[in-house]
Amino acid sequence: MTTLTPAGPPRPRPGGVREANAALVLGAIRQEGPLSRAAISRRVSLSMATVSRQVAALAELGLVREVPELTRHGAIGRPRVPVDIDDSSIAACGVHIGVTTTTCGLADLRGGLLCSDRIPTPRSAPEDALATIAERVRALLRCRPERTVVGLGLATGGRVDIAEGLVDHDRLGWRAVPARTLLESATGLPVHLDGHVPAMANAEVLFGPGRAPRSLLYFYAREVVGVAIAVDGRPHRGPGRAGDIAHLPIGGDQRCRCGRTGCLEATVSEEAVTRRAVEAGVIAEPDMRLLGEADDAGDPVASRLLAERAQAIGRAVAMLRDVVDPDAVVLGGQAITDAPDYVDDLLHSFAAHTALPGGELPAITRFGPDVQAVAACTSVLGRLYGHPYALLGTENP
Ligand SMILES: [Zn+2]
Repeated sequence: MTTLTPAGPPRPRPGGVREANAALVLGAIRQEGPLSRAAISRRVSLSMATVSRQVAALAELGLVREVPELTRHGAIGRPRVPVDIDDSSIAACGVHIGVTTTTCGLADLRGGLLCSDRIPTPRSAPEDALATIAERVRALLRCRPERTVVGLGLATGGRVDIAEGLVDHDRLGWRAVPARTLLESATGLPVHLDGHVPAMANAEVLFGPGRAPRSLLYFYAREVVGVAIAVDGRPHRGPGRAGDIAHLPIGGDQRCRCGRTGCLEATVSEEAVTRRAVEAGVIAEPDMRLLGEADDAGDPVASRLLAERAQAIGRAVAMLRDVVDPDAVVLGGQAITDAPDYVDDLLHSFAAHTALPGGELPAITRFGPDVQAVAACTSVLGRLYGHPYALLGTENP
């Protein structure tokens, strides 16, 4: 329960030093809250007066709240009422558009999913596909009508032009699709576009266990593959195709649509693995669920195909790790999280192929099969934590 005055002080204007200070205060509370104002002041090197002003403004926006039940009563001075993230009123919505599956989610300020929904990605014209997806978003919003939804994150593969709100996606056949404008007009929410793997890396930075590592390499594999690097809490995005490793030469004899053999995506994607399983007579249709069932039933060819995929991923992660030498490596995507029996194959392959000494083995994302939905919501939450007044100012002029 908050005990702050609802009216609050005048809200600082978006941008500038005050917004940067707000992001610092909010970040300290997110990482280490509940914290007293004095503890926040020490952590972010801002005066008590500045911290108190920021806490009041952030509380007025519904981002933080006092936690009076955790108040410490010292021998001297006023009691210190700690402040924590208020994850009771605001939510971020997100849509991840994959090659075969589109996932919608609604998350609280800690990246916790409140509800989610999956549909086959519509293969109609982009405008019609986005209209269908917007319909699902509107249905999802009805699951938590008490929440104030501050934006819709759109995360996808391919090339995203964040400035212009455009998406190019070879596998979907999309060219310069004005996805942001279309979804904004269909949902009435401000849309924040991001590449899906940078958004996943950002979710690890913001909501992963413990303090964020100084540098993080995030590797994703499902229908597509991708990699993202975050340094000092910021994912690198580049002009739009950073982390596209579909055609990373990984060895082997798998033909790729680019005309070469041994490309990473053509070796480890769900489409590639299930196609090989069909060709080998293991399953009748290219369906990962069927391949998993064949493996569970003890089919040795199914087991070999899944082990080979894990080993190929391990080789790729080792190569990328050796290029970047990050403090931490995190793996996500159903090619990894839906195949727990093959994680040892992956890690052994990684250890056998990395040439750098030391370092820890890669960790598996804690978001499991929800990684796409959490990443899409993080497209909003990342901006909220970086620029709270700018983001909420559009909703609360
Ligand atoms: Zn290729």
